[in-house]
Amino acid sequence: MSTPLPLGRPDIRQSDIDQVVEVLRSGWITTGQVAAEFERSFADRVGAAGAVALCSGTAGMHAVLASLDLQPGDEIITQSLTWVSTANVATRLGARVIFVDVDRETLLLHPQDVEPLLSPRTKAIIPVHFAGAPADLNPLREIASRHNVSLIEDAAHAAGTAYAEKPIGAGGTCVFSFHPLKNLTTGEGGMVCSDDPDLLAQVRRFKFHGLGHDAYDRETQRRTAMAEVIEPGLKFNLPDMNAALGLAALPRLDDNNHARELLAERYLERLSEIPGIYPLGRPDYSHQHAWSLFAIRIDDDIHGMTRSAFMDLLKNEGIGTGVHFYPVHMHQWYRRHYADVSLPNTEWNGERLCSLPLYPTMSIADVDRVADVISHVVAGTVA
Ligand SMILES: *Cc1c(COP(=O)(O)O)cnc(C)c1O
Repeated sequence: MSTPLPLGRPDIRQSDIDQVVEVLRSGWITTGQVAAEFERSFADRVGAAGAVALCSGTAGMHAVLASLDLQPGDEIITQSLTWVSTANVATRLGARVIFVDVDRETLLLHPQDVEPLLSPRTKAIIPVHFAGAPADLNPLREIASRHNVSLIEDAAHAAGTAYAEKPIGAGGTCVFSFHPLKNLTTGEGGMVCSDDPDLLAQVRRFKFHGLGHDAYDRETQRRTAMAEVIEPGLKFNLPDMNAALGLAALPRLDDNNHARELLAERYLERLSEIPGIYPLGRPDYSHQHAWSLFAIRIDDDIHGMTRSAFMDLLKNEGIGTGVHFYPVHMHQWYRRHYADVSLPNTEWNGERLCSLPLYPTMSIADVDRVADVISHVVAGTVA
């Protein structure tokens, strides 16, 4: 069998490894000057006024939502077709999640579907820039400001994405993730970018116990070791040994996203010949796609084959796949607590979605191999 093609593979070069090793040898491996430099460089790249690095995207969302001071019964609006972290964090903070359906083709939420869900208890609208395509931000910004609620962008897939010629992160509040399956990685990590200095200050405090300053401030600014808790926080800081990986790879972000785009275009071309295989659609407004994921929907009516059978057949051929995502409201706990939620487009996609291998060091020949295997699987000539 030919070499396995995993679903994703982080692009880690010797020069990245050298920078991590340098941190390991330096005597300071936790959050310090490398994390600070990563914050500045990332903010520069996306045009953000400021950025705070954290140990995950989930931690970033937690810190941002904590700054809203949610009260029991307060609501946040987000899509169910996403990773579970936003709903989990909001639930842990005592809020109720109001799930909005997504567009059946793009998996992005429609601003006009958000409007009727707003209530006096709504505190935030949280769109997801799904797979690296941006949500329609202008109407969302207008709705959020008219109703005086926060707009928080889940930018976990959107490092390098642009909406209306502006990078995601260049305005508003955005939460990025640097998990290994994302298009920029620190092993685990996340970044909150915002144009609101008060929010950034709260996130910065929250990610280090709620102290007025952290260990690195004490070391570099010769402050007293007696930092005080301003408001109880958590331990969500990004260590320098992780930040070094992101800082080293950041200059390659655009080239890597371009490589992803060429591979995605090849997928689109090849898969269009195969009946019953439907790649995601793209939004019709001006944007730059980051291609963090390449997802298809499998029409079981045509093939009489379940998604898991399809994924098993690809696995037998050495091709990794994944499901992004199993809708949040269909997870066990949410089924019990959100039993009356019905989201037709989310559920239709939730049963059919399948992500295919996509990473910058893949070749066009690799894409052709995946497409060939899929066409054999669909034709029933692979068992
Ligand atoms: C990965 C992901 C997150 C969470 O990021 P972590 O860094 O893994 O905590 C949030 N939202 C979406 C849509 C994601 O894909």
